[in-house]
Amino acid sequence: MDECIFCKIIKGEIPSKITYQDDKVIAFYDIHPVAPIHILLLPKKHIININNVTGEDENLLGHMLITVKKVAHEQGISEKGYRLIINNGPDADQVVQHLHFHIIGGQPMHHPMG
Ligand code: 5GP
Ligand code: ZN
Repeated sequence: MDECIFCKIIKGEIPSKITYQDDKVIAFYDIHPVAPIHILLLPKKHIININNVTGEDENLLGHMLITVKKVAHEQGISEKGYRLIINNGPDADQVVQHLHFHIIGGQPMHHPMG
């Protein structure tokens, strides 16, 4: 998608602080962190959100979760824990229309549904 900001980050057209990438996924620091560690993990394939995934994406989605584990380990937050969030659609305030996981940690978070 030409106008998608996350596709532009994937292509290197918008700078970002990348922490991990391979042929399928990319992870970079959120520009407006809500906690000491706030990383976005997304598929390089432009998928709007969970409503748009298909059976073809099964391996990709599994790979994303395995990558969450890797990123959390690299950040040193595996044991203390972290929150993994997908804002899906308008009621969840999904702003960027390219599927992404928020990996948020580095401090205790006491209001899981806040
Ligand atoms: P959403 O509300 O769609 O789940 O979250 C989008 C996230 O993308 C927000 O947390 C926002 O701070 C982040 N974001 C938006 N534009 C950029 C950008 O250009 N670079 C980076 N690194 N993060 C961005
Ligand atoms: Zn995109």
